[in-house]
Amino acid sequence: SGGAVVAALIGQGITRSLTPAMHEREAAHHGLDYTYLTLDVPASVTATVDLGALLVRAADAGLVGLNVTHPFKQRILAHLDDLSPDAARLGAVNTVVFDGARAIGHNTDWSGFARSFDRGLGAGLGAAAAPRESVVQIGAGGAGAAVAYAVLTTGVTHFHLVDTDTTRAAGLAATLRAMFDAEITSGGVDSVAAVLVDADGLVHATPIGMAHHPGIAVDPALLRADLWVADVVYRPAVTELIAAARAVGARTLPGDGMAVGQAVDSLRLFTGIEPDADRMAAHIAEL
Ligand code: NAD
Repeated sequence: SGGAVVAALIGQGITRSLTPAMHEREAAHHGLDYTYLTLDVPASVTATVDLGALLVRAADAGLVGLNVTHPFKQRILAHLDDLSPDAARLGAVNTVVFDGARAIGHNTDWSGFARSFDRGLGAGLGAAAAPRESVVQIGAGGAGAAVAYAVLTTGVTHFHLVDTDTTRAAGLAATLRAMFDAEITSGGVDSVAAVLVDADGLVHATPIGMAHHPGIAVDPALLRADLWVADVVYRPAVTELIAAARAVGARTLPGDGMAVGQAVDSLRLFTGIEPDADRMAAHIAEL
């Protein structure tokens, strides 16, 4: 068919996102003339920006789709014509695909984490799949909701959700309980120690550990060699949590795998090509 393919990311504070480079380089490997724009919405107009009009303009301009990030992943739902079943269950959309004038919402945050989880902690070359009966997760925000959905989809039977905002943790736990058969509990940060003793894995989904939020959201003394640790924070690639887990000999899953996974699934939805996840992972490591 030929012709330029254009997609874009809409969000706030996204000028340094690694997603455009990941998409464009992978598309180039497939011989696509592909451009990925960023539409960084200034904080001053975040509350008033007309997402419906923006979607119409993007579709009219011939974009194949949009990635949607903070703080629009929930607000965008009201402006979409249809949702994938997973996006509907999650109540959050990070990928919009235009089908003519119709805008269809998807969620590749959860599938991207699931893909990363499978690649990093699943069975592979000489390694057994990490046990995943009992998981503790810290962080019940937007990323936390997607990751919890992914973890529970892989068949976890005991899931304990922690957040400093215990109301938020309880709310997400209730939502998840309605969707999954697992035993799902929630609590404050003071509940981590007791539950972690019997857990197979720890998932971290708060901003702690990012370059501008340094630190570690869990007492490193609670980490052990037989507890796997997954982080969603991916800048830096090795967070203090991942470093502490490695120091005690634990299996780890850094957050860049999720960032790659969501890009793989979105690029496939936008273009129909089958992206090479390993090549994209190597690329993000260079960025
Ligand atoms: P958010 O603000 O929606 O949620 C963060 C949650 O963490 C909040 O509920 C907050 O109360 C809780 N929290 C903060 N500090 C805590 C602490 N010390 N202990 C317990 N709970 C605490 O943010 P979000 O959109 O969910 O993003 C969280 C992080 O996830 C981001 O900072 C980003 O680094 C990462 N992220 C990674 C990817 C990826 O592809 N790897 C994708 C999205 C987000």
